[in-house]
Amino acid sequence: MSYDSNNIFAKILRGEIPCTKIYEDEKVLAFEDIKPKAPVHILLVPKGDYINFHDFHQKAPVDLVTHFYKKASELVMEKNLGATGYRIISNCGIDGGQEVPHYHVHILGGCPLGAMIQPKIS
Ligand code: 5GP
Repeated sequence: MSYDSNNIFAKILRGEIPCTKIYEDEKVLAFEDIKPKAPVHILLVPKGDYINFHDFHQKAPVDLVTHFYKKASELVMEKNLGATGYRIISNCGIDGGQEVPHYHVHILGGCPLGAMIQPKIS
């Protein structure tokens, strides 16, 4: 599978589609999810053509990987989620329910988030 440069997040990164920006530097962009599932719902994306978790870790330079997760951690603290808790999710591929094929993590918090997923096995 090759990277689709017309995906929504690629367009946001190029400034072709607006977003509510939370943080940006030369390596990452964080913005609000358009359909938030919790009071805090941040999408953090690396700048680069990475499709999913595996692709990011296979191809991205170590300094980008380190910076990405450090920024995720900083956003958690800046949104005051440290004390009450939060969830970080990365959906991957068809079974993972990934809608946008540009690697990203969801940072969710600000209320009790409930069970991780509905049980799929009995
Ligand atoms: P995924 O299922 O790929 O992990 O999640 C993609 C997320 O992107 C969804 O939560 C969806 O609401 C969000 N999303 C889709 N299109 C847009 C958009 O144009 N702008 C923003 N800010 N979020 C979007």
